[in-house]
Amino acid sequence: MSPTLRRRGPSMHELALSRALIEMVEDYAREHRARRVSTVRLRLGELSAVVRALHVSFDVASRGTCCEHAMLDIETVPLTVHCHHCESAKTPSGPYNFRCPDCGHATPKIVTGREMQLVSIELEEFEPAVTLSA
Ligand SMILES: [Zn+2]
Repeated sequence: MSPTLRRRGPSMHELALSRALIEMVEDYAREHRARRVSTVRLRLGELSAVVRALHVSFDVASRGTCCEHAMLDIETVPLTVHCHHCESAKTPSGPYNFRCPDCGHATPKIVTGREMQLVSIELEEFEPAVTLSA
């Protein structure tokens, strides 16, 4: 296996994710009669591993939509696990080391770090609230 990063553009998975996100944001913008979206805020778990790729795919997927040029603001949620032995939430020493940093017991229960949550959407260029006539 070559250690070089071959990836050039976003993968199909990330594009699909961005498209789904943009559709959601477009619905919201339409509902609120806004022509443009300025910022989309997300919370992404450390384990979801799409943070950087999502910026690229969002850029590609948003072309020609009201989300074009919108800022994607991603807050990364750190990984925490629950240790049954210590009976509390712990932060593992690495993303692939699911062991309690204090007692060394295996901690298979992930508390945070997997979420993908749409936090807020900022809109601009609102249409005047008039009824459309044919
Ligand atoms: Zn522990």
